[in-house]
Amino acid sequence: SSSSDLITATLFPGDGIGPEIAESVKQVFRIAEVPIQWEEHFVGTEVDPRTQSFLTWESLESVRRNKIGLKGPMATPIGKGHRSLNLTLRKELNLYANVRPCYSLPGYKTRYDDVDLVTIRENTEGEYSGLEHQVVRGVVESIKIITRQASLRVAEYAFHYAKAHGRERVSAIHKANIMQKTDGLFLKCCREVAEKYPEIKYEEVVIDNCCMMLVKNPALFDVLVMPNLYGDIISDLCAGLIGGLGLTPSCNIGEGGVALAEAVHGSAPDIAGKNKANPTALLLSSVSMLRHLELHDKADRIQNAILDTIAEGKYRTADLGGSSSTSDFTKAICDHL
Ligand code: NAD
Repeated sequence: SSSSDLITATLFPGDGIGPEIAESVKQVFRIAEVPIQWEEHFVGTEVDPRTQSFLTWESLESVRRNKIGLKGPMATPIGKGHRSLNLTLRKELNLYANVRPCYSLPGYKTRYDDVDLVTIRENTEGEYSGLEHQVVRGVVESIKIITRQASLRVAEYAFHYAKAHGRERVSAIHKANIMQKTDGLFLKCCREVAEKYPEIKYEEVVIDNCCMMLVKNPALFDVLVMPNLYGDIISDLCAGLIGGLGLTPSCNIGEGGVALAEAVHGSAPDIAGKNKANPTALLLSSVSMLRHLELHDKADRIQNAILDTIAEGKYRTADLGGSSSTSDFTKAICDHL
């Protein structure tokens, strides 16, 4: 096929184990004949004054132009006068929703074998507005911002996601009994959107009860949508239900249809360069990316090959109790393809 049939996607291999696991994705995409060409971008070695970050303006432009990208873990550079890499991406690309599909991996035993849920976290406001100050000595204040605009936007995305992925239910997670104004507004927005999707069941669950239900029986949940801080906590809780951060993919949705998929784990400096990293989380993130592009056939094939390889149990990386290298595990996935 000619290059005009190809979709261009931005790839940040990232730091530490990033380039090794990004290589796995490239290899798997080649074998699966995914119609994507990568535009690779690297974190700079000095601060770009246009972004006040080690991420260059060209890198950000690449994601804006392509509207689709995959990001490996990035180590936080030390030094003054720059913004954190993840904050730069979130702000500059207006990444308003963080989506984490979370399902039990057959063959990788945890306490639960029937998890199949998706957490959708509002990513721009709430307790993360950075508005904290001292009122008087011994008294500090943090301002939690909830806006109608951001709440409607993330609720819209959650229902759109549920519909597009054949999901039946959306649960809004909140603490509106105490946070009456802020969480109250969040719920009001979710209700408004729910009315436009009569085919999707809608419920509201108080966060503490939600935690208990998740631990007792995660199969009770389907799609969960929530404000920033609750999403931060609940999405890690859910990752724990299926075996940890090394296995969970995520995708950030931004303004104008931008999607930037990324693994949830960090750059793992302790095992970097040793061909030991588990590429599963980044591979499953790349599957999320393909689903965003509606390349469902390719996504299904790759996801099945990953799950089959893990289920077979012959090739597993050290974090899953095996002794396979990154490249042997990747090759096993390619063989399954
Ligand atoms: P980490 O996730 O890098 O490592 C924690 C532990 O998990 C380590 O023992 C590591 O070996 C293991 N691990 C992580 N991913 C693995 C994988 N794919 N396969 C096998 N083992 C894996 O967390 P950390 O040590 O706290 O952070 C290291 C660096 O990563 C820091 O600079 C931090 O800022 C950065 N970080 C970046 C992101 C991101 O870019 N989204 C997220 C978290 C941390």
